[in-house]
Amino acid sequence: MESFIEVKDLTKQYMSATEVPILALRNLNLDAFENEIVSIMGPSGSGKTTLLNILGGIDTPTSGFARVGSYFLTAPDMMTRFFSSASHTDFRRSTVGFIFQLHNLSPIHTAQENVELPLIFAGVSREIRNKRAKELLENVGLSDRATHRPDALSGGERQRVAVAAAFANKPKLILADEPTGELDYENSRMLCDLFLQLKKLEDYTMILVTHDSKVAGIGDHVLEMRDGAIRGEIPKESVTDIKLTPSGTEEEKLQKAAPIPFPPKFCGSCGSNSIIIPKMDSKTGLWTESGGQKTHIELKFAQCANCGHVFWQPSKIEMDK
Ligand code: ADP
Ligand code: MG
Repeated sequence: MESFIEVKDLTKQYMSATEVPILALRNLNLDAFENEIVSIMGPSGSGKTTLLNILGGIDTPTSGFARVGSYFLTAPDMMTRFFSSASHTDFRRSTVGFIFQLHNLSPIHTAQENVELPLIFAGVSREIRNKRAKELLENVGLSDRATHRPDALSGGERQRVAVAAAFANKPKLILADEPTGELDYENSRMLCDLFLQLKKLEDYTMILVTHDSKVAGIGDHVLEMRDGAIRGEIPKESVTDIKLTPSGTEEEKLQKAAPIPFPPKFCGSCGSNSIIIPKMDSKTGLWTESGGQKTHIELKFAQCANCGHVFWQPSKIEMDK
C-alpha cells in the first residue's frame, strides 16, 4: 500500500531578523497511510508547526520532498513550475482541514455560519452547505448551539465547532496543532473521543501535534520530534492513558462514547439523505488489541441507497479474558 503522506529529507530554513539562518526542519522523514492518526510530540521550537504548515500548503519547504495524496509540495523555485498559486489554494480547499490551539472562529458568525464559511469559499450551494453544517454540528454534539456566536460558547464547545468547520469540505487530511492546548482534562478527553468517533463517519488522515501524551495516545503511531526531525516512534503503551470511555457497564460506555446517531441521516459520501439499513450478519465484527487486552467489537451497518456507501458503528464490545 502506498502511503498517503510521504516526506523525505525535508528542510525548512528561516532567516531571522539578525540574518542568522534558522533550520526549523532538518532532513525530516515521515510517512502516513490513509485513515491513520499520526501523533507528533516534541518540545517547543522543534519544528512541529512548520511541518504542519508545509503539509497544509500554507508554507513551502526550502528543500526535500513532500507529497500529500497526488499533490507534490515542492520547494518555492519548483512551485512555480509545477503549481500555479490557484492549484495550491485548490489543494488546501479540497484536501486540508486545520484545527489550531485557539479556535479560529469568526466572532461575528454563529456556530452554523462558522461551519458553513469554508463551504462558501469552496462555492458550495446554500442548500447543501446548510445541510452539511447541520450534520456536522450534530456529529460534534452541538445541534442546540447552532445559532450561538463563539462568545456564547464554552472553550470546549468552541473547539468542537472548529472541528466541525475543519471537516466541512470533507478534507482527506486534518492537521491539528495542539488542539487541546487550551482545554481542561474533561474537554481534552471529549475532543479525543470526538476525533475517534468521527473516524466512523468521515474518511480522514490526521497529523495530531500535541504536548499531552494522553492525547497523543489516540494516534495509530506516536512520533517524537526534536531539532527539526522525527527522531523515532514512542511505544503506544507508554502514552495511552486518557480515559476515552466514561465509567459504567460496557453497554453504557458504548452509548456514552458514541454520541453520533446511527444510521446517519445524511450520506457524507454523496450528500443524499436516503440511507437504508441492510440485513448484514450482526455477528460481523473485528478484533482489536491494546496493551495485551483483546477486544471483540460487533458492528452494525447502514448503507446509502443512493451511492452504496457503507457506514458502520460498533454495537457491542466484548473483552477476551
Ligand atoms: P514548534 O511548533 O515545534 O514549537 P515551530 O515550527 O513553530 O516549532 O518553530 C521551529 C523553529 O523555527 C523555531 O526556532 C522558530 O523560532 C523558528 N521559526 C518558525 N517560524 C518562523 C518564521 N516565520 N521566521 C523565522 N523563524 C521561524
Ligand atoms: Mg507550534
